[in-house]
Amino acid sequence: MAVEDPATGETLVEVADATAEDANAALAAADEAFVSFRLTAPRERGEILRRAYELMVERTEHLALIMTLEMGKPLAESRGEVAYAASYLRWYAEEAVRINGRFQTAENGGSRVLTMRQAVGPCLFITPWNFPLAMGTRKVGPAIAAGCTVVVKPAKQTPLSMLAMAQIFEDAGLPAGVLNVVCGSSSGSLMAPLIADPRLRKLSFTGSTAVGKQLIAQSAEQILRVSMELGGNAPLIVFDDADLDVALDGAMMAKMRNGGEACTSANRILVQDSIAEEFAQRLAERMGSMVVARGTEADSQAGPLIDDVAVASVKELVDDAVAGGAKVLCGGAPVEGPGHFFAPTVLTDVPDNARILREEIFGPVAPIRTFATEDEAIAAANATEYGLVAYLFTRDIARGLRVIEGLETGMIGLNQGMVSNAGAPFGGVKQSGYGREGGHEGIDEYLSTKYVAINVAD
Ligand code: NAP
Repeated sequence: MAVEDPATGETLVEVADATAEDANAALAAADEAFVSFRLTAPRERGEILRRAYELMVERTEHLALIMTLEMGKPLAESRGEVAYAASYLRWYAEEAVRINGRFQTAENGGSRVLTMRQAVGPCLFITPWNFPLAMGTRKVGPAIAAGCTVVVKPAKQTPLSMLAMAQIFEDAGLPAGVLNVVCGSSSGSLMAPLIADPRLRKLSFTGSTAVGKQLIAQSAEQILRVSMELGGNAPLIVFDDADLDVALDGAMMAKMRNGGEACTSANRILVQDSIAEEFAQRLAERMGSMVVARGTEADSQAGPLIDDVAVASVKELVDDAVAGGAKVLCGGAPVEGPGHFFAPTVLTDVPDNARILREEIFGPVAPIRTFATEDEAIAAANATEYGLVAYLFTRDIARGLRVIEGLETGMIGLNQGMVSNAGAPFGGVKQSGYGREGGHEGIDEYLSTKYVAINVAD
């Protein structure tokens, strides 16, 4: 299976395209390894994760180069993702030894209640191409900490980062069979038999809402435990009392991190009337002056999109908005030449019925819409079936809290354009999914609760 460089369209390398037998062998290995791995000392699991964290940090340059070559983002961003990915291994190295239960007297006083938490069992992880390393460690870290074994299937565009992660775990001393990576070009037919297999106990998926829905339906057959990190349509709200410099920095981060190819990307920029023009002009100056170049170029600030299909889909959304009356302040079209580049774009006067306000853009386009009142801002922000993250810029703490309480999202950035953090619970509500990754909550996804009723009568 060919892995392509999205900056040139050329094949970088070929990797083995897994068959159904390979996938089955991976699950068999995970199932067999679970028998002993679930009983390893928590400290031992924590130390393997700590060693993997240190190796990942040591290999930053190598991993960042692989990531930039297969996914396209600028090297500086790839280094950032390696640090972010590694931080989950460090966090869960520390959590492995804090798994606990409780003991209590039953309310009638007659017996005792003991609860314990045990590893769920063999897990299947299906991950996307946009954060090819971190979307793996965010799942693998807590799973290993809990004593689970794992099969990971990375996206076909970006298998190399996950293979490099597997090498790190091998070098860190993870027992054979605990982590298995299956790379394949036919994800549907490769994964369906595993999801239907009674040896599998947990499915965790990061990707689009459309595929998530199919996987939820498939997982009903075995009543699999499921975590879903799905798509987003993040609003970024700027009130007229905001510090505009802070709001612009936040908007640049929320929009342009990962070239806009992120579930957390600001998809709708909502600005209060009185500051809208100045904000739009200043955002267009910053977006319009970004260096768009192959991620390996030292001055690159925005790399290519992942493929031709992605460029065509961003173009369609921009064209639809413009046909409806939107104005282009900068960019507005794909960049001519080899590779899959799209110019950073700011749109104003975007009509309410434009598709770009409803659908995930997954590219470097910032559509701006204005609002007059707080209630209008909240209603516009919530007018989507997604509910992953929102960003909010205001210096009025009471207003900030009112808006935060009214927003239907799993995460909110208050006066900052990034929320991702290994120590915090990442995840959404509505059609952005369920389950949390990171923080104390993240390990719960890999633990089952067992309760013992104890008779203490004489
Ligand atoms: P995608 O098309 O849903 O693919 C995600 C993964 O699912 C890939 O590994 C893909 O494999 C696999 N897949 C596709 N169809 C499948 C099927 N029928 N059965 C089993 N596996 C299947 O999403 P994407 O385009 O790679 O990623 C972008 C999406 O991910 C966006 O919607 C984004 O918002 C979301 N995302 C969410 C989060 C979050 O934490 N909430 C984080 C990052 C990204 P192949 O590619 O090999 O077919």
